[in-house]
Amino acid sequence: MVIPYNKPYLTGKETFFIEDAVNKGKISGNGIYTKKCQTYFEEKYGFKKCLLTTSCTDALEMCAILLNIKEGDEVIIPSYTFVSTANAFVLRGANVIFTDSKSNHPNVDETKLEALITTKTKAIVVVHYAGVACEMDTIMELARKYNLYVVEDAAQAVDSYYKEKPLGSIGHLATFSFHETKNIQCGEGGLLVINDEQFFDRAEIIWEKGTNRSAFFRGEIDKYGWVDIGSSFLPSEINAAFLWSQLENIQDIQNKRIQHWNYYYKNLSFLKKYGVRLPEIPQTATNNAHMFYLVCTSLRERTNLISYLASIGVNAVFHYQSLHKSSFYRNKHFGEDLPMSNIYSERLVRLPMYYELMEKELIYIVSKIKDFYA
Ligand SMILES: *Cc1c(COP(=O)(O)O)cnc(C)c1O
Repeated sequence: MVIPYNKPYLTGKETFFIEDAVNKGKISGNGIYTKKCQTYFEEKYGFKKCLLTTSCTDALEMCAILLNIKEGDEVIIPSYTFVSTANAFVLRGANVIFTDSKSNHPNVDETKLEALITTKTKAIVVVHYAGVACEMDTIMELARKYNLYVVEDAAQAVDSYYKEKPLGSIGHLATFSFHETKNIQCGEGGLLVINDEQFFDRAEIIWEKGTNRSAFFRGEIDKYGWVDIGSSFLPSEINAAFLWSQLENIQDIQNKRIQHWNYYYKNLSFLKKYGVRLPEIPQTATNNAHMFYLVCTSLRERTNLISYLASIGVNAVFHYQSLHKSSFYRNKHFGEDLPMSNIYSERLVRLPMYYELMEKELIYIVSKIKDFYA
């Protein structure tokens, strides 16, 4: 038996919608399928304005431009995250101030943020790890107190909630990913969510290469031109058509993943007696089953577990390495070491999680983990 870590889910209708997009004769960006997807997110989750992008990385780069991040500005970002969360702001000249995770969750420790705020701080970027919400009330309150912007990197957090508010609807800006490793996917794709109305017009301009082309096509102006900086952040209609087929099936996809997640949780709870930690979902958060992970007691134990599972055909994988210790950033990080981030870098392991995972595969994985610990 070979069980991959991830297998991108296909609804079966992707090529039908792609063919339709092709037949409509306009496959560049900002067409019918792009609008359908954007409207879907605006209506279902109450996001004020949505723009489809070619990736979450691009949506994060748009955030840094929208917030006018300049040389010397400080942006507070968790160290335990994907490189794009930080890179998007570094590209604009920001000094990234890395902060630590919580002891019971890889999410940012909201109690550590206030001490890092200076007169140069412009924004806090939070990452809803595994689709589980950060403590957003505390974070938004800090932002109000110090006049900062909050960006939610909700790459993993589609269809997940904090106190009944959809993730992505709380910060001034938010970003999602539709990379093939995410719950809802189109190969490569992303979404920028703009909740603060002051950014509506400029976001469209940045998206369309620094031109006011979108306003022109709506008939609001009689010619369009170069009005600001920008880039080509919009995906083709082919990607949007693919994404549309996934959105039509979102409930089914989420239900199936949650079933798998619950199976793991129930049947791996015995690991607690070995000191292995299972994911914790706070009272304030929902679980979108983006990921099922374990936190081992040491790096050595994790390495052995991963290689044991690999030897019997199960592909379990570790995750981020602390960004404050990366070769690119370690000489630029002047803060303290970040022990929790280092612990997750060394001990966290992710188990196979995808729609098509079968019950007999789940049973196999769990029984092999039992064998390993016995
Ligand atoms: C996947 C991911 C990204 C990057 O998404 P892309 O669409 O591949 O650019 C960024 N941040 C986090 C937290 C992610 O999980």
